[in-house]
Amino acid sequence: MASTSGPEIERLIQLLARLPGLGPRSARRAALHLIKKREQLLGPLADAIRVANERVVVCSTCGNVDTSDPCTLCRDTRRDDAVLVLVEDVADLWALERAQVINGRYHVLGGTLSALDGVGPKDLNLDRLVARVAEGGVQEVILALNATVDGQTTAHYVTDLLSHLPVKVSRLAHGVPVGGELDYLDEGTLAAAFRQRTAL
Ligand code: ZN
Repeated sequence: MASTSGPEIERLIQLLARLPGLGPRSARRAALHLIKKREQLLGPLADAIRVANERVVVCSTCGNVDTSDPCTLCRDTRRDDAVLVLVEDVADLWALERAQVINGRYHVLGGTLSALDGVGPKDLNLDRLVARVAEGGVQEVILALNATVDGQTTAHYVTDLLSHLPVKVSRLAHGVPVGGELDYLDEGTLAAAFRQRTAL
């Protein structure tokens, strides 16, 4: 197919097409939108990307991404040091923060154990986790891992890893979603909801 624009614009489209959720068609639409909104959007976006590229760092304490190390969450003195929430990915940390469910500290593993993908304990941010718990002050580690086979394998591994330390390890309940109807749940979710039922 013949190009409709010069190599610079084609390059912009190709890069946009690599973003999650954008295919070639929507990338083309996004590029055109940016170009049309040059003053309000393209310029400010270019500046924001440049600044992010220069300043983004991974927090050496928790593994979050921010423009400072320690990150904003680690430096926040209003947070509860006694609770440490373990997540697989920064995206999970951000989702929990958006939901405002917990005011503790976080630790990003950077993945889950996976025999299939060849991810072992050494590939995850586990040493730092053990060190943080061993330093004292943490009373509970909440495993906020995905309800996948790899997520649950990782949860068992971490529970074992922390078993010699004086800390309570808990995990998220799996069950009926808020507003969910039993009729629509898959068997796995329904079975987990029964296994983890709570007394009233
Ligand atoms: Zn941090």
